[in-house]
Amino acid sequence: MSEIAEKKPTKPVVLTCAQPTGRLHLGNYLGAVLNWGRMQDDYECYFGIVDQHAITVRHVPAELRENTYSCLAQYVACGLDPTRSHLFAQSHVIGHTELAWILGCLCPLGQLERMTQFKDKARKQESVDAGLLYYPVLMAADILLYNAECVPVGDDQKQHLELARDLAEKFNHRYSETFKLPEPFTSKVGSRIMSLQDPLAKMSKSDPNQASTVYITDRPEEIRKKIMSAVTDSGSEVRAGEGKPGVTNLLTILSACTGRSLSNLEAEFSGKGYGDFKKAVAEAVIATLDPVRLRYDELIKDRDALQAIFKSGAEVAQKTAYRTLAKVNRKVGFVERPR
Ligand code: AMP
Repeated sequence: MSEIAEKKPTKPVVLTCAQPTGRLHLGNYLGAVLNWGRMQDDYECYFGIVDQHAITVRHVPAELRENTYSCLAQYVACGLDPTRSHLFAQSHVIGHTELAWILGCLCPLGQLERMTQFKDKARKQESVDAGLLYYPVLMAADILLYNAECVPVGDDQKQHLELARDLAEKFNHRYSETFKLPEPFTSKVGSRIMSLQDPLAKMSKSDPNQASTVYITDRPEEIRKKIMSAVTDSGSEVRAGEGKPGVTNLLTILSACTGRSLSNLEAEFSGKGYGDFKKAVAEAVIATLDPVRLRYDELIKDRDALQAIFKSGAEVAQKTAYRTLAKVNRKVGFVERPR
């Protein structure tokens, strides 16, 4: 591999990774993806669909392939812009697994065995493969390969980000300063959206009651049905707060979809019943998601367009990855690859 001249990014680098697992829901959109889209002007954004992570649990190959295309189409439909961000599939870029190997040689086994997510997933399986244990090391490599300064992570991934910081520090200490220490990116805006059927639980795709979850690809009539049958609270007052988890959730959704404040919305619906209020929420969600769905429907049929996005994303990602890998290999003591 040839050394490529050092490139100085002008904007801070953000890496976001998503597993290609099925459909995105309203919580993903309002709580995360909308914000990732807003970051594209201020950061150099790498966005990886991490298909190599997806095989750490049992999977069906044909489904993984379809989900990877679908995942790309959904994120683009939600506003991730391939002309401003680098959207790539992890398996298209040489370097993730190579760096993971090197980082793994600095990582105590016990630290991996203590990872909460590993313990949770391992408990649910009859036998545990090494890939599942190694998952956080691969995630550390995903981040460090691009020298990402910030990484948007949910609570369940914070421990993995800590490991990435530990491994970066270890590498820097053992071989000399190489990696920046990545910081978690927690956005000030972004709403936590709760289940429509149990407003004390987060909206989730794994909810067995599918009436709880609005998907970004749901048609208007499905959205209307789900919102109109959402659980509300005793009384008929439309206000957020104590004793009103159902109404608070619907107000949060309406506020996120319209950009209006909760107090402004409370004033509008003062004296009106839940029926009018829910209708307004349903129409606002439809107005927000309809353009997303239409864009998705178009994109998912256009395999060539999706391939072209993967190609251009992987080209940029690969250049950065080679640059990091060349530096790392040299510091570790591997001989230079003959030209
Ligand atoms: P997941 O679907 O758990 O892989 O999460 C993907 C992203 O969406 C993460 O940044 C989560 O924090 C965010 N997210 C997932 N569910 C919700 C929700 N119900 N409300 C807000 N954000 C969510």
